[in-house]
Amino acid sequence: MSGSVTTDLTPPRLRNDCFAMPQGVDWVPVDAALDRLRAGLHAVTAVEQLPVAQALGRVLAAPVVALRSNPPQANSAVDGYGFAQGATGEGVQRLPLVAGRAAAGQPLGAAVPHGHAVRILTGAILPEGVDTVVLEEDCATDGRTVAFDGPVKARINTRRAGEDVAAGAEALPQGRALGPADLALLTALGVAQVAVRRRLRVAVLSTGDELLPDPGMPALPHQIYDANRPMLLALIAGWGFDPVDLGHAPDDAATIAARLDAGAAAADVILTSGGASAGDEDHVSRLLRQHGQLSSWRIAVKPGRPLALALWRGVPVFGLPGNPVAAFTCALVFARPALSMLSGAGWRPVPGFAVPAAFAKVKKAGRREFLRARLDDQGRAEVFRSEGSGRISGLSWATGFVELPDAACTIAPGDPVRFVPYASFGVSFGG
Ligand code: AMP
Ligand code: MG
Repeated sequence: MSGSVTTDLTPPRLRNDCFAMPQGVDWVPVDAALDRLRAGLHAVTAVEQLPVAQALGRVLAAPVVALRSNPPQANSAVDGYGFAQGATGEGVQRLPLVAGRAAAGQPLGAAVPHGHAVRILTGAILPEGVDTVVLEEDCATDGRTVAFDGPVKARINTRRAGEDVAAGAEALPQGRALGPADLALLTALGVAQVAVRRRLRVAVLSTGDELLPDPGMPALPHQIYDANRPMLLALIAGWGFDPVDLGHAPDDAATIAARLDAGAAAADVILTSGGASAGDEDHVSRLLRQHGQLSSWRIAVKPGRPLALALWRGVPVFGLPGNPVAAFTCALVFARPALSMLSGAGWRPVPGFAVPAAFAKVKKAGRREFLRARLDDQGRAEVFRSEGSGRISGLSWATGFVELPDAACTIAPGDPVRFVPYASFGVSFGG
């Protein structure tokens, strides 16, 4: 039994102008580019019903409402003795014990008369007549009576029915990517099946005559290994999407077109790297201009080059820069939010925080900069020794970015800067 039923096979297609951007001489600020992606993209994945236990990492297609309260009944938060709080006053209290005990899964099944107490264990439903529990460690008992110091605060050591979530309340919103804690919550609330989106399939193609597709192949001096493909495929898998490996294509329009065709058939979105600028050998952008409604976004960001955004047979294409540092940065800053929109998870904040700089820098106005950075043992942001765009080792050294604003700024050691961990971009390994 598959346990999954697809109920909605045809989400609306993207509009042809979803990547349209006024084409001027001006560079587009990062925030304007992000706003454009947010406005132009929506979920493209079908909806299916899945058992909660199979839904890790899936995106909710609709809000989930609690079918049952948590906790469903008032119960004891500790091991101890339960009674009606009105039965106690100041000073030492001694109450007769009723027969039996209340334990988790073993209700007492009888009422506790006023002025009496009952042995009760953590998780046991409060028997009728009990609203307060005194901790076992604070009691003395001879087996027939229980003694403790009063007064005892009303309802202490008990949990109200529905105090966590009440039946009928919204437990999780649409667009939530389900984590392990969500599976616990949904299960506790009596939810067995959820409407989730199919995983977004993301294809990756590397382009360039200089690239060697397989790690460790014998290399000629003019050849380099395709570093972007394993990086992008790993990012995609880590974001909970299904990676589709389109391999590597030389700088040849026919080959690239054939790979894009394969990608459009197998995936919901295609990421390419390399060949996306306007140079002689930039076959990706030429091809997309001719056949893919190319919109070349000149984003005011460093590292970065023009991003090629297009639709190939109706499937969105993100043409990332070839340089691995720029490809990684643009994948995190621009591709990830776009993929999140396409997956149905919506727009997600990228939390960063201010820390003192462990470096000095003078930055000109006009573009946002993402510096490869990590925190030192005093919580200050240090940046990689070189901003060189070919320095892949700096990406690996870093655990996040220092994000410098679009405006000019002069940073001295100790000045506050914004640090954004890779984890804020959904990258969970490394560092
Ligand atoms: P391009 O965007 O094609 O002009 O490439 C810019 C730089 O990135 C060049 O130095 C390329 O050799 C390099 N590059 C492109 N693609 C890759 C890749 N997949 N892995 C490593 N380096 C790459
Ligand atoms: Mg190239």
